[in-house]
Formats: sequence, structure tokens, C-alpha cells
Amino acid sequence: MNLDDLAPWASDPRRTRGRRRPEAPSPPRNEHQRDRDRIVHSTAFRRLVYKTQVFLNHEGDLFRTRLTHSLEVAQLGRSAARALRLNEDLVEAIALAHDLGHTPFGHAGQDALHACMQAHGGFEHNLQSLRVVDRLEIRYPAFDGLNLCFETREGILKHCPRAHAELLVKSEPDGPGRRFIEGTRPSLEAQLVNLADEIAYNAHDIDDGVRSGLITLVQIGELPLFARWRDAVLTEYPALADQPGRRLLFETLRRLLSAMMGDLIASTARALAEAAPADADAARALPPLVALSPGLKAQAAELKRFLFGELYRHPQVVQSTQLAKLVVTELFDAYRAAPDEMPPDFAAIANRPRAVADYIAGMTDRFALREHHRLTGRRLFD
Ligand code: MG
Repeated sequence: MNLDDLAPWASDPRRTRGRRRPEAPSPPRNEHQRDRDRIVHSTAFRRLVYKTQVFLNHEGDLFRTRLTHSLEVAQLGRSAARALRLNEDLVEAIALAHDLGHTPFGHAGQDALHACMQAHGGFEHNLQSLRVVDRLEIRYPAFDGLNLCFETREGILKHCPRAHAELLVKSEPDGPGRRFIEGTRPSLEAQLVNLADEIAYNAHDIDDGVRSGLITLVQIGELPLFARWRDAVLTEYPALADQPGRRLLFETLRRLLSAMMGDLIASTARALAEAAPADADAARALPPLVALSPGLKAQAAELKRFLFGELYRHPQVVQSTQLAKLVVTELFDAYRAAPDEMPPDFAAIANRPRAVADYIAGMTDRFALREHHRLTGRRLFD
């Protein structure tokens, strides 16, 4: 990425709002490349490999994990950023960090931890991702966290309830909480990662869902978005209809992904050309500019509803979910009752419930299961 090629509305690392603790530059890297590197070297990033996306990590070796999901989001985001002359490095940094705050066991883990933390401010994975990069990574002698640039932190904080935004703004008036009070948008790069995230999981959850046997090609074939590309593949390769194996699925998903990314790039390029924001800040004040065309957006929403009903709510997924919630809840109770079972740096923190939540949220699926067995003597999954 040549910085002189960036569109006027792109986030230019030479004009970053900077880091909370100023640091000397690190040439030849620009500030957002440097953020990306810090994220890749973090402990939280390495843990993503053993964290659940939809299927529990121990259910199979070929399902997406939080790590491979994050890499797919980074790949889709980068190629769209290049086509749109946005800041690829910033997109990559946000994409690789966007799920760092996820608990073990995916959304089941987050729901259980949120319930445990109800009386203590709750738990939300987006806020936790910011907390990981701002505070919980302990790697530098001079500060806690990774001391990332504003633009990267802004992209990581995708949602934020107003009450929490007010708390964030109190300690950092111009920080990433402010836009939730002002009702403005994040950078175009952050908007792009949000959409790449959705496009990535819609496509890969179909793949994983079929791999798991919980959904079938026939079922998905009822969705116009999928059927259109499947039919195109079958017209070109009719023999695939009777072939065993997954070539038809892969080729359909490949075309679907290309079509969605192509649509995103074309629709966004049109919106940008029309709005022509003077710079990255002017883009923040406008309605969202990174978007799919209305027709494809509606079809993508239909696909999402299908996955929600047929896969995420599938009895087998729900059963794993219930057990995973129990693991998290019992771990929370066990550490609350006996804080010294946590490592000394967590046990020493005065805000005990938050320390327990931070400790559990950082766990991989398999570490959480080991700890649960150690503390309760029971194995909930065999
Ligand atoms: Mg994600």
C-alpha cells in the first residue's frame, strides 16, 4: 500500500490521532502496520486458535475457529480496501483484533459470563476486545495494554451501550466511546471490517454447517442467494450434481463470496464518489458509506436468518451451548469462592468480579474445560 495512493477519505496513518502514550515512530512501518504487528504478537491473538466460532473447538479440527475466522475477515477486508483505496493496514489491524475479547465457547460463553456479571456491570465481547488491547495484554515495561492508535481502537469498539460510552468518555473525552454519544460513524476502514465480518461468517458458517451435517445442501438451496450461484456452477459443471464430495459447495460459496465482495466494492465506490467526503473525519459525520446494494443486503439478511434458525438454534448446537454455559458459570462461582485458584496477578485485583470475568474471558475452550475439571472434579463434555 502506497500512502500517496490512498483516497482522500481514507485514514492516513501519517495523520493518525495517535496513541494514548506517545511513542517515537518505528520506520519503515507506518503507525497502523505497527498496530497490526502488536496484535499479531499478542497473547490474546494466539489464544484465538483454540476458541470457538460456532462449533466448539473440540468438536472437529476443520471447523472455523476465532483465529481462522479473523484471518478470513482480514483477507476479505484487505482486498476490498485495496480496490477502494482505503487503508489496508488499518483494515487488517482491526480485523485481526475484532474478536480478541471473545470468551471461550463463543456466544454461549459470553451469555453465561454476562449473566454472572449482571450485578457488576455485565460483560460484552466488544468492550472486552478493547479492554484486552488497552489493559489486559501485559507486554511493555512502560504501560499496560498495546497502546494502539485511536483509529484501531475505534474500529475494535464496534458496539457500545450508551451508559458504557459515558463511562469511557469520562476517562477519555476524545476516545472511541465518544461516537456512541454523538451518533457518528467510525472510519470507513472500520465500517468495511464490520461488513467483511458478516460476509465471512455467513459464507463460512454454511460451509461448517454442511460439514457438521446439521444443515444440508438441499435446505440451503431454498435460499435464492445460494441457489443462484449453485445453478450457475451446475450449468457449467453438470457432473458435479451427482459427484460425492464437496466441490459443488465450495465452488458455490467461492462464487457467492466473490459476488458479495464485488457488490460491496461497487456499491461503496458509488456511494463514496457521490458523497465525496473531504477527508476521513468528514466520512465519519456521514451516514454509513460502506454497504452492499439494497437487493443483495436483503438476500444476505435472509441467509443470516436461515443460519440463525437452522444452525445456531439447532438442537445439537443448543445442547453444546447449555453445557458450555454451565462450564463458564461454575468456573465463575469457583473463582469467586476461591480467588487464589487464579494466577496471583488476577487474584490480587481489588475488583474481584471483573478480575474473574477477565480471567475466564481470556481462556481458550480447552483450558476452560481443564480448569473446570480441576475445580469441580466433573467433565461435562466427553
Ligand atoms: Mg467476527
